[in-house]
Amino acid sequence: MYLYNSASHKKEAFVPNHPELVKMYTCGPTVYHFAHIGNLRSYIMEDVLEKYLRYVGYNVKRVMNITDVGHLSSDADTGEDKMLKGAKREHKSVMEIAQYYTDAFFADCRKLNIKRPDVVEPATNCIDEYIKIITKLLDTGYAYRSGGNVYFDTSRLPRYYIFNDHNEEDLAVGVREGVEEDTNKRNRNDFVLWFTKSKFEDQALKWDSPWGVGYPGWHIECSGISMKHLGEDLDIHCGGVDNMFPHHTNEIAQSESYLGHKWVNYWVHVAHLNTADGKMSKSKGEFLTVTLLEEKGYDPIAYRFFCLQSHYRKNLVFSWENLDNAQKAFDKLIARIAGLRPDDGAVDEAALAANREKFIKQMDNDINTPNGVTVLYDVLKAKTNDATKRAMLADVDSVLSLDLLRKADALREKNARAAATQSAAFTVIAEDGTPDEAIEAQLRARAEAKKAKNFAEADRIRDALKAQGIELTDIPNGAKWKRV
Ligand SMILES: [Zn+2]
Repeated sequence: MYLYNSASHKKEAFVPNHPELVKMYTCGPTVYHFAHIGNLRSYIMEDVLEKYLRYVGYNVKRVMNITDVGHLSSDADTGEDKMLKGAKREHKSVMEIAQYYTDAFFADCRKLNIKRPDVVEPATNCIDEYIKIITKLLDTGYAYRSGGNVYFDTSRLPRYYIFNDHNEEDLAVGVREGVEEDTNKRNRNDFVLWFTKSKFEDQALKWDSPWGVGYPGWHIECSGISMKHLGEDLDIHCGGVDNMFPHHTNEIAQSESYLGHKWVNYWVHVAHLNTADGKMSKSKGEFLTVTLLEEKGYDPIAYRFFCLQSHYRKNLVFSWENLDNAQKAFDKLIARIAGLRPDDGAVDEAALAANREKFIKQMDNDINTPNGVTVLYDVLKAKTNDATKRAMLADVDSVLSLDLLRKADALREKNARAAATQSAAFTVIAEDGTPDEAIEAQLRARAEAKKAKNFAEADRIRDALKAQGIELTDIPNGAKWKRV
């Protein structure tokens, strides 16, 4: 399997550090608001990566943080505290906000068939980890105290920019207009490890530390949480491309300075979802959430399908029209699968294995989901029985998680119910007032034949009834009959 590594800028053969277990870390949400569907694109693609690793036989332990403290509205440690902002907006406590939006995040994940990572850890649970790391960074001269806070000293590193060749001007982009510089920093790139003094005197969550009562910076959270649950090395660290700088760059700086060795082998970054005007979270003033998609009548899984149709490293353009097209294509796919008969013979195991190889060939190439989706259409055209096709679809769907068979079976049942209701609604009136089951059955059979455009059969039944002395008259969705 080949994965694109953002740190080396090329596709690399995937070899885990420990053959028995792949260690995977995902940057989780800052729970101050609903996740928008652009964020959720990253989680969908990371979910596919995890499921694919399991599909090809790896054991995976995946850890995700929940940021419930320390994340300021600019990733460069300036601006407002996101959690405080959420609490003020909704007149609730920070912890109430954190709980509410954590639950909302996982509700969205369930709707999108995103598996919950093995470990989900709120940042506020791991204060001791951060203190341990920061203490050592201070002892070894990688960190310094200034103005009451503890900062990481980026000038101590031979190479700070891991992913891009940023320069000072690029950094200025991360520092939004109207936000004052933190004059406690020795170097512009330095970042906060521990706050005791910030402009937020009403910071609700504070802990004691060797440097005074305060709270951790955002970046240290992921280093502390991943080391607590996954140890000193990681195979895969994922996130959105917006996390590369400064967040992941800072995670590497502090983690490798602390550990004294390489920390992560593969950095996997999911590209943006943008609207045509370049915004990620809003379209024409509407905040794009899973709930909004549902309100507009879309199936959240159709959004997952939409995401899978593009490679994770390509920017994806969101528009309602694009989503409409995905929903239509998805409905059509489900309708075709609903046409497969579940029990038309034994599964051809050789064909199933061959299809699996075909899917692996596509996905091994840096998780090529658009080609993985194409395999579904190839299955429908394959020269094999329906039972084998259904087994192939179920196999591939254990990675793609589009609920293909469940949705197809539900559609088939719905169609069958509709047909039954229609036939039950067929009214038979005995004009002389004496119902006769045998005659009613004949009339229903004639109606079915007409519906199936089998007019010869319909005529045959009418003639047979006539021979028994029964005269019939068609009425809307029914028939009247009498003996003559
Ligand atoms: Zn992170």
